[in-house]
Amino acid sequence: MKHQEEFSALVGDIHRQLDEFDQKGLSIVSSSSFQTQSIPLLHILAQYHKPIEVVFLDTGFLFPETHAFRKQLVRELGLHVRIERSDIPHSQQKNSEGIFYYNSDTDYCCHLNKVIPMDRVRKEFDIWISGVRADQSATRASFDPIMTADDGKIRYHPMLYWTSKMIYDYIKEYDLPKHPLHDAGYKSIGCMPCTVSWADEMNRDGRWAGQSKTECGLHTELK
Ligand code: SF4
Repeated sequence: MKHQEEFSALVGDIHRQLDEFDQKGLSIVSSSSFQTQSIPLLHILAQYHKPIEVVFLDTGFLFPETHAFRKQLVRELGLHVRIERSDIPHSQQKNSEGIFYYNSDTDYCCHLNKVIPMDRVRKEFDIWISGVRADQSATRASFDPIMTADDGKIRYHPMLYWTSKMIYDYIKEYDLPKHPLHDAGYKSIGCMPCTVSWADEMNRDGRWAGQSKTECGLHTELK
């Protein structure tokens, strides 16, 4: 288990990187899905000496517990959260047979509800921080801590080399809360139609069960 001094050093590195961006006059935004695994990054950003806006993508299909958890964290950590939603109403998120895209075309559903709204925000800022980790998937393992997109926008992944164990050690060390559904067997908590409860906490198999899909597109399309 890492001790507080070791975590302090890692947090210091992240804050120094943020200072470097700030000194260059670069604007910064973060995003979070407000899961248990999101907490260390949110805690680290909350401790930074300048407020950093955290984007929460409200697909309209999230668990009520996720909204409650977000509100709890805003109160307890003093976060600055910005909620973004798709411009396309749910009534228009169905295929020609009237089946919701979350049941007929999950890639398109994620594109409408996550990728487009996040892309809109991303274009307003120079740096986009997200909490992706290399141990979550092969796709994420191929990422670099800092990546520049074709349009010059920068993605910063401060948690990239943190392991799942470090995440939970950090939560324990700083006595931080867990998502209300965490102990009910939901380890990767996204939208209700696409989340199952039997997930192995070491990976993201808790979503899109039965499909080869492992990413919502935020970290594969917005590069
Ligand atoms: S996770 Fe499921 S419900 Fe949520 S946006 Fe993606 S496909 Fe739609």
